[in-house]
Order: sequence, then C-alpha cells, then structure tokens
Amino acid sequence: MDLTALAPDELAARRDALRAAHDDLRARGLKLDLTRGKPSAEQLDLSEDLLDLPGTGRHTAPDGTDCRNYGGGLQGLRELREIFAPFVGVPADQLVAMGNSSLALMHDNLVFALLNGTPDGGRWVDSEVAFVCPVPGYDRHFALLDRYGIQAVPVPMTGDGPDMDVVERLVADDPRIKGMWCVPLYSNPTGACYSAETVRRLAAMPTAAPDFRLFWDNAYAVHHLTGTEHTVADVLAEAERAGHPNRPLVFASTSKITFAGSGVAFFGSSPANVAAFLASASKRTIGPDKINHLRHVALLRDAEGLRAHMRRHREIIRPKFELVDELLRKHLDGAVASWTLPQGGYFISLDVLDGCARRTVELAKQAGIAVTPAGATFPGGNDPRDRNIRIAPTYPPTEELTEAITGLALCVQLAEVERLLAGNGR
Ligand code: PMP
Repeated sequence: MDLTALAPDELAARRDALRAAHDDLRARGLKLDLTRGKPSAEQLDLSEDLLDLPGTGRHTAPDGTDCRNYGGGLQGLRELREIFAPFVGVPADQLVAMGNSSLALMHDNLVFALLNGTPDGGRWVDSEVAFVCPVPGYDRHFALLDRYGIQAVPVPMTGDGPDMDVVERLVADDPRIKGMWCVPLYSNPTGACYSAETVRRLAAMPTAAPDFRLFWDNAYAVHHLTGTEHTVADVLAEAERAGHPNRPLVFASTSKITFAGSGVAFFGSSPANVAAFLASASKRTIGPDKINHLRHVALLRDAEGLRAHMRRHREIIRPKFELVDELLRKHLDGAVASWTLPQGGYFISLDVLDGCARRTVELAKQAGIAVTPAGATFPGGNDPRDRNIRIAPTYPPTEELTEAITGLALCVQLAEVERLLAGNGR
C-alpha cells in the first residue's frame, strides 16, 4: 500500500494505528543503539591474540630495533608499513605508521597546514579557509572543520563519488578552498566507490589555491562485504602524472580490522609532504608505539593474512547488512524510502520522505532506539531536505538489530503519515 496514494481519511486511520503500535513499542522500554559504526564483540574476538602478542622476549624488530625503547624512527615499523602499503595505495617508503587513530592524523595534518603551511604555500590560518564536503558524509570530518573555523561547502554525492562538475567549478573559482574530504572506497555513509574517472578528475583538476589538498580518508580499503574486492584508482600516481604530486594526503587505520581503540593508523603522501609532516610530528612525539606495530605484524603476517582476517569479519557482518535490507523491504513497503545495500564499509544510508528524518529519529528515541541524529551526515547538522538517516548495523547482536530496525521502520511510517496529513492540511 503506497502511503502517498492514500486518501486523507485512510491516512488518518493509518496514523492512528501506527500511533497505537508506537505506544506499544514505547511501553516495552527498549534500549537499543544503532548510532556508531563500531565492530561487535565477536569481531573484536578475531584479534584477541593481540593481547598475547608479540610475546615475552619478542621485542626486537627485524632491523634490530628494541621496540620497547625510544628510537627506531618516527615513521613506524617497516614490516607493518609493507603489509599495508598495497592496500592503502602508498609505497611503504612514503607511508607512516603512527598511533591508534587516523582521525588524529587528519587533525594533525590540518592543524600543521593551518599553523605551519605546506610545501606549496603559507599558513592557512592567515586567510579564510573552506573545504569541499561531499554529502552525505562523515560527521567527524565536518566537526573537525567546525572546530577550526573552516567553512564547509557541501557537494552532492553520486554513485561514482562526488558530483565532479560541481567540484571542478568550485575549486577553480575559489582560492579559499584549500581542501576536500574524500572517503574513496565504501564511503561513509552511502557505500559509494569513487570511479577511476572521478579519481583522475580530482587529481588533475585546476584549483585556484596552489596548496589545495585532497584529504583521502581510505578508512574502508579492505572492508569488503562481498566476494568482489573493490579497489580505488591510485590517487598519488594520478596526481603526480597531472603535475600535482603533493595534492593527496592518504589516511587509513586498523580500527575496524583489529581493535577499534588500540589499532594502528597510517598516513601516506608525496615525499615532500611526508617529510613536512614528520618534521612537525617530531616535535609532538619521540615516536609511535612500536610494540603495537610489532604485534600487528605478528597477528596479520602479510597481505594474504590481512585478506583472510577481513574475510572473517565479512562472515560476521554481511548477514547483518542483509538482515537490515530484508527488514526494511518488509516493513517499509509502501513508505517513501530508499536505502543502500553497500558492497563494503560500515553503513547503510536511508533516505525517507523529505522533512521526515528528524521526526523519525525523535520517534525512535522515544521508543528507546538510539539512531545517529538526523542531519549528522551534513555539515552543521543541516540536511537541507531533512531526509537522510545513517544506520550502523555492525555492533548490535542480531536479535537487537532486528528489534531496532523493525522499530525504526515503524517510526519512518508514522513520521511520513504525519507529514502527508500535515501536507493535506489535517
Ligand atoms: N574515517 C571514516 C570515514 C570513518 O568512518 C571512521 C570511523 N567511523 C574514521 C575515519 C575513524 O578512524 P580512526 O579510528 O582511525 O580514527
């Protein structure tokens, strides 16, 4: 039954039935959480051996470095960089392995550019700065800009990445635009993968700012949900070919590979950018946690070890994505709703009837189902159509996920019926 085809009195009857169902749901006193993309306990168990690694007496790196001590360089353990280099798309020599958070490395790169400038120009803080932000996107990227007074310029996402006609026009005209957020593979939250053509255009496009940077957040490089291991074109090589070798700043981490809170983060770029980064980073730390690097090498071993590890993740989480899809199909039949069934990554992006996302999330909250705030996927929390909701299905156990999605779908239906009735002047 298509909601938009219902006559006003049919809609009113439907609203009353949905309200009664919502009251029943509230009475159950649920406490469910779909907010953040966290690995489940079962996924964390895949890396439990880290707690015993590298093991007593195994503190020496292959080059002889005693990993317990200072020293051994700021760039991080070479063996670990070699495992990740092909997946992250950066030669091991140009890759840095640091602490537990790639977000921290994005933060540091941004702050270093603001305060110290880049190899291509002076301090960003001396003039107005703006960033291109594909939307819907990752809320923490936007929060970072907000924190430092950087203006966010939203650009719509397509199935192939950001709308490149819009991006090219913006960066060509506006010298304030110094950067752009990109999650090139299994994007947060839509799951879109940037096409080779998108990558080529991003790497080659003329920019008014000579020190323009792509903040290339390859957070989901190995997080496939199907048997097809999608890859993204080599942005560093493309940028070099186009005469902009310093444009991409590449980030990744093991947060959703091993332990979300105790993994290893990576930064890679051109030799000039890496040298500039290390020069600043050397004032901030004497070096990264090499024992953590060592135990990650011991756990993952090599490229094939990493692939096998990610297949085990896939076995755990793919059924959860399929379950959400199945439940949304069943319970949103007739509603105005479309959602992604991504081939990788951590999120499902749900679009409901314009003007209904906030109300849906509010109704869900009343029923004890915590959903990422509506608008979070847009800079400033402002979804101009108020329709996008990000669903993170990995963390809850299957039973809780079933209850949460079924309840959420009811809230979508109720919000939409209310909206349609308001549109009819009722
Ligand atoms: N980038 C993206 C796109 C993410 O989705 C996340 C985690 N949700 C992060 C970065 C955070 O990464 P880290 O834990 O390495 O800071």
